[in-house]
Amino acid sequence: MPHTPSDSSKSSINGRNSRYIFVTGGVSSSLGKGIVSASLAKLLQARGYRVTIQKLDPYINVDPGTLNPYEHGECYVTVDGAETDLDLGHYERFLNVCTTQANNITTGRIYQSVINKERRGEYLGKTVQIIPHITDEIKRSIQILGSQSEFDFVITEIGGTVGDIESLPYIEAVRQMKWQNPKDTLVIHLTLIPYLKAAGELKTKPTQHSVKQLLELGVQPDILVCRTEHHLTPSIRTKLAQFCNVSHDSVIESIDAETIYDVPLLMQEERLDEVVLSKLDVDLSKVDKPNLTEWKNFLYRFKNPDQTVHIGLIGKYVELKDSYKSIAEALAHAGANLKTRVEIHWIHSEQISRKNVQEKLGHLNGILVAPGFGSRGIDGKLESIHFARTNDIPFFGICLGMQCAVVEFARNVLDLTDAHSSEIKEYTPHPVINLMAEQKSITDMGGTMRLGAYPCDLMEGSKVREIYGTSSIEERHRHRYEFNEEYRAQFEKAGMIATGINPVSELVEIIEIPAHPYFIATQFHPEYASTVLAPHPLFISFVRAAVIAGPGTVNAENKEDSLRA
Ligand code: GLN
Repeated sequence: MPHTPSDSSKSSINGRNSRYIFVTGGVSSSLGKGIVSASLAKLLQARGYRVTIQKLDPYINVDPGTLNPYEHGECYVTVDGAETDLDLGHYERFLNVCTTQANNITTGRIYQSVINKERRGEYLGKTVQIIPHITDEIKRSIQILGSQSEFDFVITEIGGTVGDIESLPYIEAVRQMKWQNPKDTLVIHLTLIPYLKAAGELKTKPTQHSVKQLLELGVQPDILVCRTEHHLTPSIRTKLAQFCNVSHDSVIESIDAETIYDVPLLMQEERLDEVVLSKLDVDLSKVDKPNLTEWKNFLYRFKNPDQTVHIGLIGKYVELKDSYKSIAEALAHAGANLKTRVEIHWIHSEQISRKNVQEKLGHLNGILVAPGFGSRGIDGKLESIHFARTNDIPFFGICLGMQCAVVEFARNVLDLTDAHSSEIKEYTPHPVINLMAEQKSITDMGGTMRLGAYPCDLMEGSKVREIYGTSSIEERHRHRYEFNEEYRAQFEKAGMIATGINPVSELVEIIEIPAHPYFIATQFHPEYASTVLAPHPLFISFVRAAVIAGPGTVNAENKEDSLRA
């Protein structure tokens, strides 16, 4: 995946400064600001523009790395090793472009940097205040993306809802940027238009109030994107335009979609990109129309599957599906590539035991054991892996999923009684998964993991080498513990082979069992790298193996034939 799209076509606005588009939220959280931002970015990118998206999170954590997934969903990891908000995953999946540390800023990080400057005496004895010092730091974090003149548009999503105490400095920074450069700055307000069933009516009042709140803070939104379960009538659009002081074409409907991947097309129908461009003074007659052919091709394959495959996702945060967002999306991308509907069965690892494993997993065509931290639910993961390994069910382990596969093999094939990961059992007699020596003294919980992209060489003749079609790769990591090299020869003799090795540190990054129809596990997280236009080869091969192993197909006569893309 390129760090930035290299094709700056004739519609590029190079030569002019980057333009800044802010996306704020009103009335309620969870309206899908990330998806709307990513969709707008997609439409602009599809016209040949160079676009980046940034998420500003008003919470005080320095990064989401220390947040429990129940709090905030998955922690997404960038190639440069930043632990970020899951919205960055949407940005990468939609745009097929890598994001970096600069694309996710939190209040914690802003304060940390201001306080560090104060300690270094950089404020020359001044009283350090929210305005101007915090707001300047916020503006700097936004403008840093524009100043690299790599991007025509910087889209900045402000987390939270207008009116939250935490987001006040961010809105103030937006106000200042708009005031300093009104021609190159635009504010989109995403809001909710609730439907009152009893009255049979859509209601605009909450939106009027949230726009009023923005106005009190000195910001007039240019465009309203209205989340709604029912189409906006012309009179509702007029009312919203009139009372919120925006032009009629700037009221954009965002109706509930069947899939998030429909949203760019829905936004195009509503002409969101055209309104944005004309408000930023771009002559529409001179720019390319969006080219969304590949996107539409993906959607067609996604919506018209030839068969269904049942994949069990074994994890301990399954109640909140956002905890495994990138895995679910990577499975969807692979499914579309194979014209296969991937039905994910979310299975809580704490509910699996030797006794019920057949009943819980027996109907599945493939088993994926998810990443995670800590001991809760480990036994269920080990049972699931044992079941997949001994019943020839396609298995894919990711990070903790790989570590559990190693432990299961050590115990049940190598007869190393009580073998474990030292994360779960510190004084196990057989620490087949262990901390690297230099990690042992670290006590700070933030940023002490192996994070971001590391190289990995793939063994000749291995399944992974064939799947990737190359001899060396780079994949993203987020973990502390590693395969213990001391046991490697024993594992390999018994049939579990280390087929991916870090060429620098020689750490084991991939294991596979060649005698099994499909048993692959990775220490890294391939799910972060899967995008709509570049589905990840490991997910494709896993879903393909599950289809081949599966009980039947819906529309296709021959499974192998149906998989030919
Ligand atoms: N808890 C394990 C480790 O720290 C695995 C982490 C993960 O699955 N992301 O190594």
